[in-house]
Amino acid sequence: MPELEVGDWFGKATVDAGTTVLTEPFVHDFVRANIWHLKGRDADLLVDTGMGIRPLAPEVDTPPGKPLIVVATHIHLDHVGSLHEFPLRMGPKVSAAKFDGMDDTVTYAYMFYNLDGAVSKLPAPDWKAADYRIPSAPLTRALDEGDVVDLGDRKFRVLHLPGHSPDSIALFDEIDGLFFAGDAIYDGM
Ligand SMILES: [Zn+2]
Repeated sequence: MPELEVGDWFGKATVDAGTTVLTEPFVHDFVRANIWHLKGRDADLLVDTGMGIRPLAPEVDTPPGKPLIVVATHIHLDHVGSLHEFPLRMGPKVSAAKFDGMDDTVTYAYMFYNLDGAVSKLPAPDWKAADYRIPSAPLTRALDEGDVVDLGDRKFRVLHLPGHSPDSIALFDEIDGLFFAGDAIYDGM
């Protein structure tokens, strides 16, 4: 992983000219997901959206007018927290109906309310983990096994990989082998 530049809330690292990774270094590492921003010719792609504790959209640089396709790999809190901030919202067909409600028991958000050391730095002076909620983010497209997310010059095949969660999907670029697995595959923690 390239060096993380830590800002006020998000950390950001440039992987290559077309790839940036963001993360939330001040949240507990159980819920610290990678947020990938990939540049395409006709559209950019954001894979997962973090906790939604602070706004993510201002951190994602896309040229004015260029569509930003946002894919949630599954409906866990650390992947869908900021999904509502974006207009093009894609996620697994298996859990598609649940993105309207973002029920705490579906996202596991309730586990964060009493998590010891939920954050190592307060995102706002009066912030409390117990007040954490994930806004509704109805999907604009449900993704199923074999579907393609097309950025013009890059295409990602959708793989349904139940295991970590019943709805987990991954994105696979069959040309260059780039694979976004969400939580379906871990390298240690
Ligand atoms: Zn997960």
